Amino acid sequence: MSLLRQPLLLLARSAAVKKLVSSMPVSAGIVRSYVPGETTGSVVDATAALVEDGLRVTLDHLGEDTMDAEQADATVTAYLEVLGQLAARGLTRNAEVSVKLSAIGQFLPDNGHKVALENARTICRAARNAGTTVTLDMEDHTTTDSTLAILRELRKDFPETGAVLQAALHRTESDCRALAHEGSRVRLCKGAYLEPESVAFQDKLDIDRSYVRCLKVLLAGDGYPMIATHDPRMVEIASSLASRYGRTQGTYEYQMLYGIRPDEQRRLAADGETVRVYVPYGQEWYGYLMRRLAERPQNLTFFLRSLVSKK
Ligand code: FAD
Repeated sequence: MSLLRQPLLLLARSAAVKKLVSSMPVSAGIVRSYVPGETTGSVVDATAALVEDGLRVTLDHLGEDTMDAEQADATVTAYLEVLGQLAARGLTRNAEVSVKLSAIGQFLPDNGHKVALENARTICRAARNAGTTVTLDMEDHTTTDSTLAILRELRKDFPETGAVLQAALHRTESDCRALAHEGSRVRLCKGAYLEPESVAFQDKLDIDRSYVRCLKVLLAGDGYPMIATHDPRMVEIASSLASRYGRTQGTYEYQMLYGIRPDEQRRLAADGETVRVYVPYGQEWYGYLMRRLAERPQNLTFFLRSLVSKK
């Protein structure tokens, strides 16, 4: 793990840092490089451009950790709106949505789990009507059980709903086994959250080893693995494991974030691989941007310059 990742993720929790950073406009270079826009229209345009380039998309309406039921409702409305626009532009064959349960009520006191489930059901129904699917993003380890329980409920009516598992967590290899069945879409990522030693590997090498063990389980299984990483080594290993397990192109996919290694995204697609780009949009880009900066401290100088010039 990079030496700066932990302090940066801790600093990101400070309200003063959040206030300062959030005062940057979305047009500031560093924000724009990871977030193509704030509005539904701008992100649907960005989606159309990626699809034109032979890529697929999963859209994320930015926001997380809401403690406000109205805010959760507004997020649901935003998803219904973007699904409607994707359908109207004929994009739903190639674009789906990713949803963070904490943005649609999971942390509300008393009945958060139930509210998040009902809100997720509303989004899944709209996605199905639009001709596409939903993937539930995975947040920090305190939410894993609740998120997987909601996934099981949703899959009774919407078996196409995708899950995310994080290789950093000790439990994930066993969660992969439980989810590697037919029809099950599972995104495997390394994990973006600061997690304690009691539940998560801390060393980059240990996380990478876990990622490979999980890849083996998912690629050997009967589900649809979604290999979410920018790490050239992991992509290479995934490709040779896919051949070893007799996987043909299209029975799994690669996923990368908007703005990260765009040439590699296009190279893989040109090789015939299915490649999906995760495209976040909206005003609540703070948490997302800080996680990206923590992964790539080389971007800090660029970031500080944007902050000072406020352009
Ligand atoms: P790393 O070891 O972090 O990076 C490998 C290489 O990729 C680096 O050496 C560099 O070349 C390049 N790179 C990585 N990050 C950057 C960057 N910010 N800017 C430029 N280059 C970079 N995490 C969750 O916890 N929950 C989720 O639901 C979730 N969903 C995701 C969905 C997708 C499609 C993707 C791609 C990631 C998702 N993540 C999620 C984030 C993930 O867990 C990692 O934090 C993130 O992908 C970085 O890990 P890496 O596998 O790319 O490898």
